[in-house]
Amino acid sequence: MSKIKVCPECGVPRIFSKGNRWESNGCITAQAGEGKRAFFYEVGGFNGLFSNLERTMGTPIDRIVSEGNRKNSVDYLRWLFSGPKGVLARSILHNRVYKSVAGLGLVFGYGYFEILDVRRGESVTVYGRNIYCMPMFIGDILGVFSVMEKVPAQAEIEEKGDGHIITVSRVDKPEEELASRLQSETIRLKPGDIEYKGCSVCGLPAEFGNLAFDLKEGIITDTTTGRRMATTGMDQIVAVFRELEAELGEDVVRAILDAQRLYIRSALDREEIELGYPYLRRFLAFRGMGNMVRYDARGDALDAVVENASPPLLVAGMLQGIFELLSGSESDCEYRRNEDATLEVAVRAR
Ligand SMILES: [Zn+2]
Repeated sequence: MSKIKVCPECGVPRIFSKGNRWESNGCITAQAGEGKRAFFYEVGGFNGLFSNLERTMGTPIDRIVSEGNRKNSVDYLRWLFSGPKGVLARSILHNRVYKSVAGLGLVFGYGYFEILDVRRGESVTVYGRNIYCMPMFIGDILGVFSVMEKVPAQAEIEEKGDGHIITVSRVDKPEEELASRLQSETIRLKPGDIEYKGCSVCGLPAEFGNLAFDLKEGIITDTTTGRRMATTGMDQIVAVFRELEAELGEDVVRAILDAQRLYIRSALDREEIELGYPYLRRFLAFRGMGNMVRYDARGDALDAVVENASPPLLVAGMLQGIFELLSGSESDCEYRRNEDATLEVAVRAR
């Protein structure tokens, strides 16, 4: 994708601003799918979470993460390609679909990748560098391959120079049928009153003035924190958690909370958190994780309520990590997510 149109005012690619809308209720609406939410998150957040989780569970989880993401991608792409459009995509536009996926990856912060070889029904070979999160990325590619080629596949990764060669090829095993459409939540979201000053041209929040898009390497950097960001579907991470629970059992739920707590403790600065409620409320909303309507941090406890919270485990783990950074104490965390997606979190010093 040689020419990516960017907003003349804030410099953000038009595909990005057309694809995502920051709402006043703490969600990001993804325009690509009806009712879908987007998740704009630290790349280090995905990788830190998964590596902490692997350590806690004492077992490799890359394959499970890829599989959860693959299932979600298949489900989404089947919907996207349903009807005549899909037949067209699969026949005439075959190679172009793979190429446009690589182009979108640059805009969404997935890193640089190019399609080296496509053999219909057999294999796709991809070179990638600065990939945002390898197991998530493998799931993305496997999902595209499953839908385009309609055969079960596996991925192999080998290091090459400053990146990796990823080969996805068909395998002779029956494809695991998706039991049903992975239902995304149809909770009616609560309204909110978060205000963003919008770019006068594309309407994105003014915060985007602090985000640098490197469209050659597919890297988005928040220049105020120095942290790299990427955008994915909220459903993707929810599907990954579902797969982890299905494979590893319910112990993984607490382990995810704990992995997130540890990531937050290592990644955020105390000065950042001491900016308090207004900052943290925007911090969550800007990532599409919900609308924090109550935040009460004391020396030995933290209580918070987040409406439209998602993914709830990451919101709760984040608040627990924040409490531990502020207080310097170890803690216990209880959380409850009501049917209307309101999350109540209570953290207590141990
Ligand atoms: Zn703009």
